[in-house]
Amino acid sequence: MDNNLLQELKKVIKGDVLTDAETLITYSHDASLFEIKPQAIVFPKNEDDVKAIIKFANLNKKNNPSLSLTARSAGTDMSGGSINDSIIVAFEKYFNNAPRINNNIATTQPGVYYRDFEKETLGHDLIFPSYPASREICAMGGIVNNNSGGEKSLQYGKTEKYVKRIKAVLSDGNTYEFKKLNKEELEEKMSLKTFEGEIYRKIYKLINDNYTEIMNAKPQVSKNSAGYFLWNVYDKEKETFDLTKLFVGAQGTLGFLLEADIELVPIHKHREMLIIFLHDLSHLSEIAKQLGLYGMIQASLAFLPAFISLFTGRNLPKLVLQVDFTSNDVKEIEEKVATLKAKLKPLNPQTQIAKDNAEKRYWLVRRESFNLLRKKIRDKHTAPFIDDFVIKPECIEEVVTQITDILKKHPEFIYTVAGHVGDGNFHIIPLVDIADPKVRNNIPIIAKEVYDLIHEYHGSITGEHNDGLIRTPYLQQMYGEKIISLFEETKQIFDPNRIFNPRKKVFGDLDYAMSHIRQNW
Ligand SMILES: Cc1cc2nc3c(=O)[nH]c(=O)nc-3n(C[C@H](O)[C@H](O)[C@H](O)COP(=O)(O)OP(=O)(O)OC[C@H]3O[C@@H](n4cnc5c(N)ncnc54)[C@H](O)[C@@H]3O)c2cc1C
Repeated sequence: MDNNLLQELKKVIKGDVLTDAETLITYSHDASLFEIKPQAIVFPKNEDDVKAIIKFANLNKKNNPSLSLTARSAGTDMSGGSINDSIIVAFEKYFNNAPRINNNIATTQPGVYYRDFEKETLGHDLIFPSYPASREICAMGGIVNNNSGGEKSLQYGKTEKYVKRIKAVLSDGNTYEFKKLNKEELEEKMSLKTFEGEIYRKIYKLINDNYTEIMNAKPQVSKNSAGYFLWNVYDKEKETFDLTKLFVGAQGTLGFLLEADIELVPIHKHREMLIIFLHDLSHLSEIAKQLGLYGMIQASLAFLPAFISLFTGRNLPKLVLQVDFTSNDVKEIEEKVATLKAKLKPLNPQTQIAKDNAEKRYWLVRRESFNLLRKKIRDKHTAPFIDDFVIKPECIEEVVTQITDILKKHPEFIYTVAGHVGDGNFHIIPLVDIADPKVRNNIPIIAKEVYDLIHEYHGSITGEHNDGLIRTPYLQQMYGEKIISLFEETKQIFDPNRIFNPRKKVFGDLDYAMSHIRQNW
């Protein structure tokens, strides 16, 4: 960035602007496959700073077309959502006050780490049930803006269900609050002669004019973080209109989050975990069906052996399923475990009840299996690019078999599978030598084959991790031209100067993404 511009930026804010080599390298990465060097990292100190940065970008965009702003909380995004080649606006340093808890609502800033957030909520016997597996390293800003999900999502739903109010700075450099509105409140908003009024009028019209197509576009799978969730905004029957639904999961492409009200749920007093060891994948769909019968179950599909044997060389089960039962009533749990065991009996799986510490260990392994993958294992590293697809549980066997067949054609990709079998969400994260040209060439080839398959089975390309650089180019195939044009219109309404997080959610660029795959780790 030109030095005058940088000095200008430093003048308009109280927070820090860093451009030293080490900081730029740190912020060139998130947990994705990519590496993009930014021009400057800004740590806004307060709301006025955020507004000033956005006004600065607007003012200077015309003479500096590549100027853009990418928000970042903890920077653990797996899709390349929190990296870019212009200015990174980092919230973890100054936007991390402890959440305020009022009844069952926690008001949080974006830079609050989930682990700290949870400490506060547990003090009130409450929990946010959509925390991701990255719970120890991610922050609330990323959770809201990725529409994150995790081990409890099958039972409780995802982040989108729990965000009740949002305070954000939009592209005109002003702060606005969004929450669910009734008909009269919506009309009042639409009558405003301000940018806010314009947004309400235009988004209302966009949704109303295309209502049936938008409703039909909603992915018919248990979880989705792909695209803008236009279908969740306007409930014609109840006459409610809620723009938080559009902001959640938008990866900072529509504005910057300053604060969110998050609904919490009571923690259950008792929990028990049934571990199911499978040596044969052919029973997966049947098991998923049985698990689907339980409202109170989360199930995690843990490993394929390639990963474990990398460490141990042992012949372990092909799959370890963790089925978590929680309730305030011990008897209810016991009954559910017994019923599930009886239902699974014809399949003859080996099962075990994990208690107390053992149970914790299993969850830890499940969560840490991901985290471990961030680190270098021998000469290999993780390449998340087909890491988060969702299909209907009844198609699991068919689809996963075909996907593993695709990967088997490329032995340079050692793959691992984890996920949530109950809701058909899979995390396949190959281990690769990123310097190998064969690996670099085959990433887009494998991605295309896998996403073609997901399209064929009417799945979603991402259940939790979001689109980012890696998946935005595949949104067109998932949603079709018309819906993509509505996504682009949505972006245009919120961000007419295109200052926020380019190439994410709309106007994806596969060549740009592929040319920014990391050279090494
Ligand atoms: C080991 C590991 C396991 C993971 N497991 C899961 C999982 O189970 N489920 C899941 O959903 N994800 C998972 N992820 C991905 C990621 O950790 C989560 O999506 C997490 O919620 C991101 O939080 P963050 O604070 O690190 O976000 P960041 O990387 O900082 O940002 C994520 C996105 O949100 C935007 N953003 C951040 N702050 C703001 C703001 N203030 N305003 C506007 N936009 C903003 C960014 O621009 C970016 O697009 C995992 C990642 C790793 C490395």
